[in-house]
Formats: sequence, structure tokens, C-alpha cells
Amino acid sequence: MVSQQRHLGLQRPEEQGSTQSAKETQNGSLSQIERMTQARNGASFDPSKLAVIIYGSKEELKTTLAAFARVENTLGHTDTFKLPVAYGDQTRQATLLEGLRCGKATFQDGEPDTNVFSERTHLFSLGNSNPLGLTNFLFTPYLKLVGTEEQVKYWLPLAEEGKIIGSYTQTELGHGTFVAGIETTATFDKETDEFVVNTPRESATKYWPGAIGFTATHTILLARMIIDGQDHGIHPFMMQLKNLKDFKSLEGIELGDIGMKMSYNAAGNGYAVFKSVRIPRSNLLMKHASVSRDGKYTSIPLRQKLLYGGMMNGRRVMIGHVAFQLAQALTIATRYSIVRTQGLKLAKPPNFAETTIINYAHQQHRLLTLIAKSYVAIFAWTSINITYSALPALQAAGNHTTLAYTHMLLCGLKAWATQTAADGAEEARKMCGGHGYMLISGLPEIVNSVLATRNLTFEGENYVRWGQVSHYLMKGLDAETLPADLVYLETYYADMTSSCKSVGIDFRDSHVLLDVFRRRAAKCIVEAHDLVCAAEKGNGLSREQAQNKHAPSLIVGARAHIEVYILEASIKQLASLPVDTDMSIKAVLTRLVSLFGLSTISSPFSPFAASFLSDGYLSAAQILEMRDQIEQLIQELLPDILAICALGCKDGDVYRRIMGWTRQLPINVPAKNNGGVFKAGWEQYIAPFLRENRERRFGSRL
Ligand SMILES: Cc1cc2nc3c(=O)[nH]c(=O)nc-3n(C[C@H](O)[C@H](O)[C@H](O)COP(=O)(O)OP(=O)(O)OC[C@H]3O[C@@H](n4cnc5c(N)ncnc54)[C@H](O)[C@@H]3O)c2cc1C
Repeated sequence: MVSQQRHLGLQRPEEQGSTQSAKETQNGSLSQIERMTQARNGASFDPSKLAVIIYGSKEELKTTLAAFARVENTLGHTDTFKLPVAYGDQTRQATLLEGLRCGKATFQDGEPDTNVFSERTHLFSLGNSNPLGLTNFLFTPYLKLVGTEEQVKYWLPLAEEGKIIGSYTQTELGHGTFVAGIETTATFDKETDEFVVNTPRESATKYWPGAIGFTATHTILLARMIIDGQDHGIHPFMMQLKNLKDFKSLEGIELGDIGMKMSYNAAGNGYAVFKSVRIPRSNLLMKHASVSRDGKYTSIPLRQKLLYGGMMNGRRVMIGHVAFQLAQALTIATRYSIVRTQGLKLAKPPNFAETTIINYAHQQHRLLTLIAKSYVAIFAWTSINITYSALPALQAAGNHTTLAYTHMLLCGLKAWATQTAADGAEEARKMCGGHGYMLISGLPEIVNSVLATRNLTFEGENYVRWGQVSHYLMKGLDAETLPADLVYLETYYADMTSSCKSVGIDFRDSHVLLDVFRRRAAKCIVEAHDLVCAAEKGNGLSREQAQNKHAPSLIVGARAHIEVYILEASIKQLASLPVDTDMSIKAVLTRLVSLFGLSTISSPFSPFAASFLSDGYLSAAQILEMRDQIEQLIQELLPDILAICALGCKDGDVYRRIMGWTRQLPINVPAKNNGGVFKAGWEQYIAPFLRENRERRFGSRL
């Protein structure tokens, strides 16, 4: 029997050298830890100084790292050779339980105010990825937006102190993007001074809200307000879901979980059915619209504008969140690329050792161009944070002039950042080969959770978001005077016959790149506008119909405008680095911004490169020169690649960790103690399978 196995090339586990030490080397090459140390020592600067720039200040970095350390300690995540609980039992129940465990530890750490957990990480996120995160991510921001001073004063401390658990209930089985189509009703009963809430048909079932199934005690419910048979449209209501003593659902409320999703499984997205649930009139969140005791409805004139301003915060948070998630995925892929050896193609004397995969040119190109994107995404996020933070005060003073611009930027940046992060994280997963496909690599959860922000998606599907940017651009071009951010279109469009004069190393200059970006945007946007106007005039279409007809051209224009903003924001961030920033850090960041610009225009892998080429501004020779610069930049950045990825498990001891975790998987532990048999599988299926097949074939039991 043993000799037969050897003949087939199979070995028993104990024969495979399963206790190989991390220091052991293969073919005389370096160990994984040594490779990692060598790569780290090759950096031209201290990565902790770069981390200060990424996090905004020394103080912020210190707070963040300390908060993470405390929570990891509470959760028992400090031993990185121990299989994380999340990768153990993967049943629906266990996944939700682990989400609750992480959420409780994070919430009780007392750091939610710093946004450490909601904006920068997925695992402990007090955002959309654990069931207690929805309180801070959606419930309290929305409460502050739509509640009166008195209502906020009552509910906010309860939520902030964790005395109630919040959620946000908008989406229904039948309506997502089109919020105005929501069917849940809240009908005013004058007799009792209450609203009666109903989901009158199956399609009105509230479906998707995070935490609603088995965690939230309260929710902000969006429902259609009916008074005396008149429909006043969608309004927000505070609704208690659970009895706080025994956690049973209140009368008339059916709650449940919607099961496993592609990601965000710890969040507990659920469903809710309401049958004649009575809530007091005072639970209508009345900052912008109110109902009097006798049923008189009043709303303030700028209700929609004010609501819009506040609701944009979710998008703002998401841009930063996915930028950091992309950085995390790339950090995993970079570290793996440094320690993974594969193939003898590039082997050199004297020992002809296998090459580390970072030496493959396509790996370098993919990693560094994506790292450049993650940096500019963080720069753009920093920039939009400044614009957005000024909005509430302006709006409170009755000034809504920056609302449309801020809204457009947040829509476009959300669409750009989530799409870039989703594509980039998926690329990072592929760069780790089969090991990247394993759940324990951490990459599938990053890929799928970023995908949720891009495709399905909360905070609006991306093509809908691009549509909103297009709408802003078309309106801007229709206006007699262009809005300030579109003035560049006029300058460029006035001279569309000129060509770019830059050569070679000039293309690294971010202002040269900005010139190319602006010229491309001017061409795409003005051409799309011409198409829309022609469809209106020539074909008699409405503006909506004309925009729908030319949506692909409009999206290219919208993307071009947002990429102009991203490059401008990055240039500004470089210019505003603290004066004492190391020259080597400045040089690296400048190279990354150039690499972003150059690769967007001319990388053979760039899906949008064609939009730069259609008007002859750049020649084929210039594109080749740009590609040459890309290759040079990549070579200059390579020694710093580890230092640039200044986040996250550093030692490079990958194989030992993979095997350690794999052996600890719940399916493997009992099997190991049972002679390598997965008992249920053997007894229920494999044994009958083999027996029945043998009986069929040979007509008797062996
Ligand atoms: C992980 C996750 C968490 C969520 N959490 C919550 C939550 O806490 N609370 C909550 O209430 N909801 C939540 N949702 C629901 C989310 O808000 C909706 O999924 C989202 O609004 C999209 O709606 P939909 O799924 O109905 O897609 P649809 O609106 O049906 O979109 C389907 C397709 O139609 C296109 N489309 C739709 N309308 C237009 C249009 N006007 N113009 C052009 N194209 C259009 C879209 O681009 C898309 O391609 C969550 C969803 C996910 C995935």
C-alpha cells in the first residue's frame, strides 16, 4: 500500500517536512524572513514618517495605532499564528456572532468619536461591516440631520453610550435607487396621535438594512407619510424594534436575517415586515417637516437641499474607507511578492535560486501603478474632506451655493474610488496566485466588500453616481457663466488644434500631466454636451432622454473631470507637505503622483487610455516616451516598495503562518485526531459512495 502511494507521487503528511522552520532555506536562497528584512533595509526613508503623512499627524497616527492595539488585545488577535476566529466556523450564526464580538470590543473601547475604526479599517469597522457599527455609520449622522434639537438631545446620548443600538431602514424588496418609490406607509391616526406603520405588500418589505435582523433595538425608518388620505412623500421616523428587556420583536414587527452575502457577513443585513405598528407622532423626525396634533403638515422650503447636504457624509466616509482597503490589499500583495519565489527563468549564478515574484516586470508594474492610485485616492479624500467640512456651517447660514459642486465631487469620487479600489484589490488578489484566493489571505473579503460599494450598492450604484456628475457638467455648460471648476473647459476648448510639446522626462512634471488631463476632459465633456444638445434639438428628446441616449460618452467626460480633480488635489497635497518632510519622502510621493498621471494616460493596461488619444494632442511617439518614463519610475520606486506600504503582518513568515492557520481550521482539527478522517463526510457520503460504486461495478462488497 505504501509503495503504491509513493509510485503515485503521494506522501503522508508526516513525510512532508511539515515542521520546516521559517529560517530554513531552499536551494541555498534566503528565507522568507530574510528576504523581507533585506527588502525593508533597502528603503530610502523611515516608513513611520510616511505613515504620519498618510494619517495626517503624529497625534492621529499614535491614537490610531493605540486604539488598534487595545482592540486587538481585547479580541485576542495579538498572536498572529493563531487562526483568527473569523476564519474558523463560517456558518451564518458564527459569522454574525464574531461580528458582534468585534463590534462590542470596538464600541466599548470608546474610540468611535475619532473615526479610527469607521474610516480606516474593515475588520473592526464601526461602519457597515459589523452589526454595532451601523449606529455610528448611519443612525446617529442621520438622526443629527433630521431630528429637532429636542429629539437629538433625547436619542443621541442613548445611541452614543450604547444604550440603544441603531440601524437605518430605507431599502425595500421592490425599491433601492428610486427612494421616492418606497411603499411602506406611516398613516396618521388623529384619534390616538400616532402613526400606523405598514408594509402593505411583499415588495414593501424592508430588505437589506444592516443590523436590523437580530441586533438593532431601534431604527430610522423611511416611510411614505399619509394624512387624511393625502400622500406627503417619504419621511423619517424613529422606530423601536425590540423590547429592551428580553429582546423580543415588538408587536406587529417581523424581523429576520437575509443570509450569507458575498461579503459584509458580520453586519447582519436583514428584513422587516410591519403590520399596523403604532408609533407616537413625536417619533416623526421633524427638523425639516412636522405634523401638528390636528394633522396639519408643514415643511421648510429647502428641505430637500438640506437633506442632500447631510446624506453625502456616507459617501465621504466611503471614499476614505475604500482608499485604505485598496492600500491594505496592496500591502498584502507587496509583502507576498517579496517573499514568494517561483520559477528559475530569471535565476542567476552562483546558486541559481528561484526568483522572488517581485522580479517579474508585470508584477512590478501592476503593484506600483496601483499603489500610486491608492495614494492619489487618499490625497483626493483629504481634499474633499476639507470642502465637505465647510458645508454644514454654510448651509446653516442659508448659503447653499457650494452644495451642487460638493455633491458632484462626492458622487464622482465615490464612483472613481470604489471602482479603482475594487479593480485594484481584485488585481492584488490575482497577484498572490492561488493563495490569494483563500479566505485566510484576507483578500477575498476586501475584494468583495469593496465590490459591494461599487456595484450593488449602498450609497448609490456607480453608474447612477456618474450620471449625477454628468448632469452637473451639462447644467454647467448650459449656464451663461461657467461654474468656477469648469472654467478650464473654455480655455482648452478655445484651442483644440494645438498639440503637446513635451518630451521625455518633461512628462514626469505633474503640471504637464495636468495639462494633458484638462485637455482630454475639455474634449470629452464638450463633445458629450454637443451630442446631448443635438439629440434634444434634432431628435426632439427631453434632456433626460438625451442624457440617457449618450450616457457612455457622458460617463467618459464625467470620469475625465473627476480625474482632473484628483490630480489637482494630489499636486496641492504635495505642495502642502510639512516643511520638515524628508526629501526622500517628498521624492517618493512626487514619483507616485507622476506614475498615476502617466499610467492613466499611457499604460498598456489602462482601460481609459483611449480617451487621451482621439484628438491628436499626443503623438504615438509621446505615448512611448511616457511608457519609458513609467518603467524608469517603477525602477526608482522599487527599493522603497515595502516602505511605501506602511500599513499591517510584517515579518514575511508567510508559509509558516498559512500552514499554522490551515491546520487550525475546524475541519482539520478533529480529522487530525481521527486518523485524517472527516467523520461526517466519510460516514454519510464517501463510504456509501465507494461501497455502492463497488457493488454496482463488481456485484459484491470488497
Ligand atoms: C452590503 C450592503 C449593505 C446595505 N445596507 C443598507 C442599509 O443599512 N440600509 C438600507 O436601507 N439599505 C441598505 N442596502 C441597500 C442599498 O442601499 C441598495 O442595494 C442600493 O440603494 C441599490 O438599490 P438596489 O439594490 O435596489 O438596486 P437597483 O436600484 O435595482 O439597481 C439595479 C441596476 O439598475 C440601475 N439603475 C437603477 N436606477 C437607475 C437610474 N435612475 N438611472 C440609471 N440606472 C439606474 C443601477 O445602476 C443598477 O445597475 C445595502 C446594500 C448592500 C449591498
